[in-house]
Amino acid sequence: MKTFHGKGISNAIAIGSAFVISKQRGDALRLQIDDAEAELARLNKALTLAKEQLQEIRDIALTETDDAHAQIFDVHQMLLSDETFLSSIHKLIEKRHWNAEYAITLTADELASQFALMDDETIRERASDVKDVANRLITCLGTSKKEPPKPTSPSIICAEDLTPSETVALDKHVVLAFVTAKGSATSHVAILAKSMGIPAVLGVGDAFLGSLQNGMQMIVDGVTGEVFLDPDDETRNRLLQKQKELSKSMERLLLLRGKETKTIDGNQIKILANAGNLSDVEAALANDADGIGLFRSEFLYLESDDYPSEEQQFNAYRQILERMGDKEVILRTLDVGADKRIDYFHLEKEENPALGMRAIRLCLKRPEVFKTQLRALYRASAYGNLSILLPMITSISEVERTKNICEEVKLSLQKEGIPFNDKTRLGIMIETPAAALISDQLARLTDFFSIGTNDLTQYVLAMDRQSAGLDEFRDVHHDAVLYLIKMAVENAHRAGIPVGICGELATDEALLKTFLRMGIDELSVSASYVLPLRDVIRKLDLTNA
Ligand code: PEP
Ligand code: MG
Repeated sequence: MKTFHGKGISNAIAIGSAFVISKQRGDALRLQIDDAEAELARLNKALTLAKEQLQEIRDIALTETDDAHAQIFDVHQMLLSDETFLSSIHKLIEKRHWNAEYAITLTADELASQFALMDDETIRERASDVKDVANRLITCLGTSKKEPPKPTSPSIICAEDLTPSETVALDKHVVLAFVTAKGSATSHVAILAKSMGIPAVLGVGDAFLGSLQNGMQMIVDGVTGEVFLDPDDETRNRLLQKQKELSKSMERLLLLRGKETKTIDGNQIKILANAGNLSDVEAALANDADGIGLFRSEFLYLESDDYPSEEQQFNAYRQILERMGDKEVILRTLDVGADKRIDYFHLEKEENPALGMRAIRLCLKRPEVFKTQLRALYRASAYGNLSILLPMITSISEVERTKNICEEVKLSLQKEGIPFNDKTRLGIMIETPAAALISDQLARLTDFFSIGTNDLTQYVLAMDRQSAGLDEFRDVHHDAVLYLIKMAVENAHRAGIPVGICGELATDEALLKTFLRMGIDELSVSASYVLPLRDVIRKLDLTNA
């Protein structure tokens, strides 16, 4: 048995077999192989074939060009017999159980980067020879490119990291848990795991992947952040027992449905649910959430292969609103860019995507995309209790420009005789330091604030929310973040508008008293956290220190 530690997400435990999702590196996908001997035999066959090909090319080059040209292929042939090159590939196959394609790519990348650093230009040029030879060898293996396989039976998904689009592509019915080598508590895979109420342990480190094989038995404890590979009987029995206790306490929590969320001394707060799809909306209802406090509409876009049409969006939003009845639904406009990349948007590659063309900036840059979404939202507003939320606001002008577009959209709907609710509230995310600092001015322009602590923390501390490596520096209770939250709450209340928190900090029990004392009006959390939070709040007394 081997044990690994990371950040535990969700109060749940999963027991099952591993399904490894490999990253594509260049042309090679990393796969875990069972039979190293067979893989080495594949490699040897490919080596023989590659050497034969090079001999033929060398002969042609010699007759058709010159000696110097032909010598290049001598170098290529030499590399295919090079002791260091081959032993590195062998080691990766034998010790790490990686497939030959990946072992070759990794070895070639390392060798090429060593060559690239040399002063001598001729040696530097060898870097491209190395890559050329590696590509030939991979082609000779006969499987240069593959679609990553997906699990078809219940499995624990293990990966180096998972992007939002990789995560949405998975069939949720077969996902028992997530474990990633990288990734932090506010990364999107964490948010998804919470919304699905399944355990995840993130940032367990790269050594985990080296010890892992497809199909291996494992246990994921989302409470402690422990991952057990090939668990022994004692550990399995202990965690099975813990799993039973967790489900019993969940049954007890279900008794809180229909009860108020009020502290002993009478402070009341609303608890809404975050959602990204219809099953999250069902979970919000099942857990008696006061509404949907954040619907991340980007998941509609991530799930489709092209821009979703106005009609598709209208139907989706209407369905959510109708399902929630009188309860408030805060639907956030498109927040793509940064780590949420979508191919058909053809976003330019940026040095710092988290600081780049994302969310409201992208929408204002692409008014047609924005207008399509706003038309769908306003049309849906006739079918429920809708509020529209704008992400990543940094300035007055972004809000004003958006409001003008909203007016334009409403006017055109009016002309077309399409019903909508003219009183639909328009709020903004406070998730940039700039928005918090000018929240007095922004509060006069908007109907409500929703504080996105995931991005606010990232931008205040200048620490990438995706990076598990920064965990030792990332103080999620940093005074600077709390100070800006307090400032935004005070400014909202001075202007007479409500303010909520929809980032992951809303689930942080250690901060509940602080938030209640600040006067936060609502918390929006993954559905599985609604009742546990209600339980804690009902036991709090703000008159006690
Ligand atoms: C946030 O930034 O806190 C937030 C709720 O938005 P997202 O996690 O979708 O960026
Ligand atoms: Mg955000």
